[in-house]
Amino acid sequence: MLGTLTRYLRFMGYDTISANGFMSGNADEDTLLLALAHDEHRILLTRDHELARRGNDLAVLVTAGDVLSQVQQLVDLSLVERRLPMSRCSICNTVLREAQEDEIDAAAYAPRDRNGYTFFWCEQCGKLYWNGSHGRQLKDRIDSRLSS
Ligand SMILES: [Zn+2]
Repeated sequence: MLGTLTRYLRFMGYDTISANGFMSGNADEDTLLLALAHDEHRILLTRDHELARRGNDLAVLVTAGDVLSQVQQLVDLSLVERRLPMSRCSICNTVLREAQEDEIDAAAYAPRDRNGYTFFWCEQCGKLYWNGSHGRQLKDRIDSRLSS
């Protein structure tokens, strides 16, 4: 349910794992999630009031509807900083490295004019990222909508 927030947090550089595949509202699975959060020193972000209540300090009830408001809620709680290093793959959470020429060449979806772009590579997905218009729009939205 918080898939968009997950992708934003990864673009913002935060190690974020998704609980997709867990059954929300199932007490046993909730216990597993909380144990995972505790063991890996993670904060559990949830829409589930009961899960948030059980999690105490480990959990945050995400109340906002749109993703920028959700990020703002986490900024207000001092859980995240307003930044966008684009350092993690939004799909798989792997830390990105700078892309090599041949990787950029091979990506048909890369911008043809590379001037002013920085390219990053996810070794896990074989996916190319760059801080082009999409990244800039994202950064503009975060900068303009969030106050820290
Ligand atoms: Zn990836």
